[in-house]
Amino acid sequence: MFSKILIANRGEIAVRIIRACREMGISTVAVYSQADKDALHVSIADESYCIGGPQVADSYLNMAAILTVAVVSGAQAIHPGYGLLSENAKFVSLCEKCNIEFIGPSSEMISKLGDKDEARRTMKNAGVPVTPGTDIIDDVGTAKQKAAEIGFPVLIKARSGGGGRGIRLVRREEEFENAFNSASAEAASAFGDGAVYIEKYLKPVKHIEMQLLCDKFGNVICLGERECSVQRKNQKLIEESPSPAITPEIRANMMAAAKKAALAVGYENAGTVEFLLDENKNFYFMEMNTRLQVEHPVTEMVTGIDLVQWQIRIAAGARLTVTQEKVYLHGNAIECRINSEDPDNNFRPSCGTINLLHIPGGPNVRFDTAIYQDYTVPPYYDSMIGKLIVQARSRELAIRKMKMALSELIILGVIHNRGLHLDILSDEDFVNGTYTTSFMEEFEKRHRAAKKENE
Ligand code: ADP
Ligand code: ADP
Ligand code: MG
Repeated sequence: MFSKILIANRGEIAVRIIRACREMGISTVAVYSQADKDALHVSIADESYCIGGPQVADSYLNMAAILTVAVVSGAQAIHPGYGLLSENAKFVSLCEKCNIEFIGPSSEMISKLGDKDEARRTMKNAGVPVTPGTDIIDDVGTAKQKAAEIGFPVLIKARSGGGGRGIRLVRREEEFENAFNSASAEAASAFGDGAVYIEKYLKPVKHIEMQLLCDKFGNVICLGERECSVQRKNQKLIEESPSPAITPEIRANMMAAAKKAALAVGYENAGTVEFLLDENKNFYFMEMNTRLQVEHPVTEMVTGIDLVQWQIRIAAGARLTVTQEKVYLHGNAIECRINSEDPDNNFRPSCGTINLLHIPGGPNVRFDTAIYQDYTVPPYYDSMIGKLIVQARSRELAIRKMKMALSELIILGVIHNRGLHLDILSDEDFVNGTYTTSFMEEFEKRHRAAKKENE
């Protein structure tokens, strides 16, 4: 087992990983930007090093600085968390060259699966159903023709995209050219790769993903699904497990497909296979995320399995001791992402000093965060300031518990989305579990209409 791990991230996920290390008796090394000197992850780690300016390019994406700290501090492994360098094949290969264990799959695996086009082809060949679509297309004219053949609406997707960026929905042929150029330009600037392809836009659909753990000996277990259809701007807002929409039969088929996907590439460590489920209960592979997911606590709450600790054990060469037969989903878990942003103003990010904080508690209530009383939320990073997760015996009870927890949560000093979550949890479509990825759009329309009526 490792005796010291460097955490190459910030915010709640850095705190989450440090906690796992401490429970395992492993020393921790934090890295931070000049804007994060008062951050929680810095104060709870055993050692911490400033690695650069506030912008992520100067600090959390500064590979040379991070690797230098790893070498100097004597860390044997690096946990990347999610986002930032977690899916950066170049960083992983540098770790490999420096003889530092990257807690995640190999650089080769990451480039293979991070390339959405290659991943689609690999999965298709392995017999996993994928969303109908094209290969990479360079030329707008050809792309437009292919889109017409597939039939509008279509999605233009960036080969190297992630986090909802580099995606454009095109409803009509006349909008295609602009969308194609802007998707490609956004991807080129965000990911350094402007290559795009086209997928059929499936609707109505649910986003359902399967959590996997794979050790270095070819053992693969699937920890069930998370339903993530409540999204704004293609980013998840509420996640739950199990999905209220799938039968044991669909679950078994999806789990088998996810395992097939992992075995097809010889996957290692924690990973998530994202699927779309259509009205006729057909499901399609969308992508595989080769890292820990933001919403991993939902799975931890229903399975009782600590995903971060397993990531570390697997990276250290341990064998999975949990077998598939031992994986059981207990009751229902829900997660609400608490973002410092204004739902009434196009989700505009908000920053400022937290001048009052009260965190809910009670049985099976978990709040993963890095904020504290008098902490100042800096403007440079993601707007997610916490994740509230609850677990209960049934979905109905979990919703009730979440509402209670949300109503106890007090964060003053920044604008956030607690009220929006409470409204969603009372919405009929959410309550009956039939919601799809169009949920937020429809919900906002309904709410705007209701607001107008009240005026
Ligand atoms: P997930 O796919 O894990 O559910 P999202 O789709 O919301 O999470 O986010 C995907 C990507 O968005 C991450 O891999 C990362 O690129 C970015 N991201 C989200 N939250 C953060 C954060 N707190 N810090 C940095 N990047 C983030
Ligand atoms: P990212 O890498 O940014 O997470 P994904 O390919 O996972 O990109 O897609 C993000 C979201 O967009 C999905 O969660 C889903 O809601 C929606 N989406 C993606 N592909 C399709 C599709 N073919 N049809 C309908 N919705 C889609
Ligand atoms: Mg995705």
